[in-house]
Amino acid sequence: MRRSTIAVFLRKRVIRFLLIIGLIGFGLVAVTADYTVVPLLGGLVRTTRVILDAGHGGIDPGAHDRCGVLEKNITLDVVLRMGDYLALHGVPVEFTRESDRDVTGEEIPGKGRHRRDLEGRLKIINRGTVGVSVHVNSSGDSDEHGAVVFYPKDSEEGKRLAEAILQKVHKVQSLNHTYVVPRTNLYLLRASNVPTVLVEMGFISNPEDKRKLQEPAFRQQMAVAVSEGILQYLEDKR
Ligand SMILES: [Zn+2]
Repeated sequence: MRRSTIAVFLRKRVIRFLLIIGLIGFGLVAVTADYTVVPLLGGLVRTTRVILDAGHGGIDPGAHDRCGVLEKNITLDVVLRMGDYLALHGVPVEFTRESDRDVTGEEIPGKGRHRRDLEGRLKIINRGTVGVSVHVNSSGDSDEHGAVVFYPKDSEEGKRLAEAILQKVHKVQSLNHTYVVPRTNLYLLRASNVPTVLVEMGFISNPEDKRKLQEPAFRQQMAVAVSEGILQYLEDKR
């Protein structure tokens, strides 16, 4: 190598070294900026996989307003935002769906489709260590509004996860129930092998909730709140 070549070579190495140092520095600042993250990096993250389930999808629109506002689109958007947030905080995440489809893999309407869809979701949730299913509510009473967090009755861990999420959600959305609600008849919660909760973010049948659910800023707030609840639960579990 000629001297000038060596100089270029060394300069490249120095630049690469500085880049790496810079990235590590940036990472440390980003991490220490949020106190909930530091303990997670100790090892819990390696054994954690959060499964995010966007309710409905494909031929199943979920709750809707008859004017094109569909639950399936709102839940997918919020869940993808949650994935970004949790990944930024170093938490491994898997989705039951990342596009507008149901989880049967077939999308064949008719008898059994809904059950096959739920079974598809359950299979993915059971691959993780924590499951969170995100939904939008609907009611015949347009005054009914606010968030609800369901957990499987008789699941202490599920209840803890639900409570951690409810506390954070309360900061950005009114509550339909000020306490977490046990359920026995929700298949996804009843049949999952890991702590799993279902978050209803608000009512599409309530004008104020519907307006909020259509706003990207509100969806981001909800995504951060539910994610912060998950982070809090993981931290408390240590
Ligand atoms: Zn739903």
